[in-house]
Amino acid sequence: MKLVTYRLGVEAGARLGVIVDDLCVDVADLGLACGEDLPDTMLGLIDAGRPGLSALRACLDEVGADIPVGCATALSNVTLLAPIPRPRKNIFGIGLNYLDHVAESAQALDTAADLPKQPVIFSKPPTAVIGPGQPIPHDAEITQQLDWEVELAAIIGTTARRVSRTEALGYVFGYSVMIDVSARDNRRAGQWIVSKGMDGFAPFGPCIVTADDIPNPQDLDLWLTVNGVEKQRSNTAKMLFKVDELIADISRVITLEPGDIIATGTPEGVGAGRKPQEWLWPGDVVVATVEGIGSIRHPVVNVTPA
Ligand code: MG
Repeated sequence: MKLVTYRLGVEAGARLGVIVDDLCVDVADLGLACGEDLPDTMLGLIDAGRPGLSALRACLDEVGADIPVGCATALSNVTLLAPIPRPRKNIFGIGLNYLDHVAESAQALDTAADLPKQPVIFSKPPTAVIGPGQPIPHDAEITQQLDWEVELAAIIGTTARRVSRTEALGYVFGYSVMIDVSARDNRRAGQWIVSKGMDGFAPFGPCIVTADDIPNPQDLDLWLTVNGVEKQRSNTAKMLFKVDELIADISRVITLEPGDIIATGTPEGVGAGRKPQEWLWPGDVVVATVEGIGSIRHPVVNVTPA
């Protein structure tokens, strides 16, 4: 299933939807029509666990192609928000998780050329999240080196504490797309929370594809364009630490909880690693895509104080 958080108008509240063909079907309204109590938020559905997903699936099976009147809106008529507009905790970011990105970073940034022996983990605050189409802010007083990073995001479904690699993927609710926007000139003593954690630095969406529809998260093409020009293209097969390893590693020391997000790292082709280096500027448009999930498109907008 492709799940979205959406609203109908600027004044309307955020709702949980499921995509059926070119329709956005409201999950709670579908539940009402089917006599089921279904959640109206993404976190509500994640918290409802497997029974919640099963109930939603049963309702979709029950109605089939006959979506009840009033439950569905053309996808083109809704505004998509970030699938989880306000994560409960910081997003877990994984640095240096693709071979060629380790190499380009070692040349251009202050990171080591040796492959990391353990996942390199940082975090991005919930306030960094923006939804599809929302502007990536560019403050010229803060950065002259704004950079892009397309990433597969894994969303945790079940509390994970010290889980093994073999069972780890069973704790995943689904997958999405995230851009790990990075102001390269704001790294502080090797710490990345400022350079990657600023407001608007976590474009996220357009949907969460449930894990049952992505049985192998390590075989997905992912790519990113700036102004229509391809800058990154790779496949999640090239991750150094796979999604199951990341979950096993993090959960050994930090409990992963429903709704937690892991941005699994970016492949080569970031602006810092290009010759000459390239950066994002106001007026640019960034589009990030992961195969089987979708694309998010974001304009870069000047927010420098007057
Ligand atoms: Mg990254």
